[in-house]
Amino acid sequence: MRPIPELVERYVFDHMPVFTQNMIVSMAGQQRFRNRYSEHFHAVLEEWGRTGDGPTAVLKEIQRERLIHLVDRAREHSPFYKDLRAPSRASDADEAIEETLSQMPVLEKRTYRKNTDAIVTRDIPAWQLRRGMTSGTTGTALRLFYTRETEAEEYASVWRLRKQLGIGLYDPHFTFTGKIIVPVVQTRAPYWRNNSYGNQLLFSIYHMSHENLELYVDRLHETDAVYVNGYPSALHLVAREMLTTGTTLTRGQLRAIFTSSESLLAYQRDDIEEAFGAKIWDRYGSAEFAVSMTGCSEENLHVDMEYCIVEVDPIEETDEYVRGELLVTGLGNNATPFIRYRIGDVGTRLKAPCPCGRPGDVFSDVDGRVDDFIVTPSGRMIGRMDHIFKSMDQVEEAQILQTSRAGIEVVYVPGPKFDVAAEQKLRREIRSRLGNELDVSLHGVSEIAREANGKFRAVKSTVGTYES
Ligand SMILES: [Zn+2]
Repeated sequence: MRPIPELVERYVFDHMPVFTQNMIVSMAGQQRFRNRYSEHFHAVLEEWGRTGDGPTAVLKEIQRERLIHLVDRAREHSPFYKDLRAPSRASDADEAIEETLSQMPVLEKRTYRKNTDAIVTRDIPAWQLRRGMTSGTTGTALRLFYTRETEAEEYASVWRLRKQLGIGLYDPHFTFTGKIIVPVVQTRAPYWRNNSYGNQLLFSIYHMSHENLELYVDRLHETDAVYVNGYPSALHLVAREMLTTGTTLTRGQLRAIFTSSESLLAYQRDDIEEAFGAKIWDRYGSAEFAVSMTGCSEENLHVDMEYCIVEVDPIEETDEYVRGELLVTGLGNNATPFIRYRIGDVGTRLKAPCPCGRPGDVFSDVDGRVDDFIVTPSGRMIGRMDHIFKSMDQVEEAQILQTSRAGIEVVYVPGPKFDVAAEQKLRREIRSRLGNELDVSLHGVSEIAREANGKFRAVKSTVGTYES
């Protein structure tokens, strides 16, 4: 059972002195480093460094080979896929990929959710399986399984770009992501922690009131770093503080800014690049380890072809682009075959090659990850509320509504296992991110309405302190 040790760990961590918390953060950093940057990581990074620039025919050949391997493995080791048709043996790689995929069913999230145990391959021993959870943008938790190799390949796609930009694994950097590294109830600086092993200064994204942001900016100016990575919404709050107070970083001081996990909105890009004085390289990935796209100098997103195949289920098509829901096939996840998985995001694929010269499939945009912010009475602005539902598999779906600064309403569809304990857990998850300032009301419903365009919104807020 996960929740109890987690709660204890949280409690113990929250009551440690900052010095000890820094040590814990550094130890976790070292552990993460060892998990991610394995021998397999270095081998794949080296290989993909050679294949990434093309030619396209080589990339297609790699995709075909890996797809056949994936389908054969699924047929043999995944009970859910035992009756899948054999992959096409067409001689042309493009044709073989298309033929193979077109005869496969689309994997819907609800199908994955119901059949997770039958989908995960049986040939990987339990001790080699790594486990995760995701909520996606719908607030529906999914159980995930992958291996050390999967994680290595994910990070090889991240580091291929960083390496090209001359950035090294041990270079000092700033991070603004969803990890709770500073107790939420803390009301005095420092609102950051130091991972000395990875040369990483981690800033809390849960303490970003206007008052506190001044301290964040001071700290950014006092610390040397080569790059920054984080959620666009968090970086944007810091950027706006720097722009309004005339405290932007010197241009060129940072070599690059890396964003991920949320849609990077146009106004966010402009403000962040101006305030941090460097270019943004965006990335689109997923907790399922089934898709990866990397930003380029033209601000497009390139599919990491060695890692995944991305199809578009068309909603709209012109001579220039095709837009629709993404169906992703993960080539690097050997524990879970995600084949034509409808991941819940909408993307726009360009028909012409990208002017940057990188070959393969290219998207101008992946939409559908736009979250609103929750605003607390003291003015803290908090994004990515879907993290609350990450470990809540008793909840089918949820939406957060905010119509005043005083509180929020959480509307949820309870699953069959939802009970009093689950409700208490849900309240704890909410409090761990929002603290105690807000009133929180919970309402179980049978379904949650969609927007006019059919999209589901995880957060709907009319408390507009966060506007472009
Ligand atoms: Zn490009």
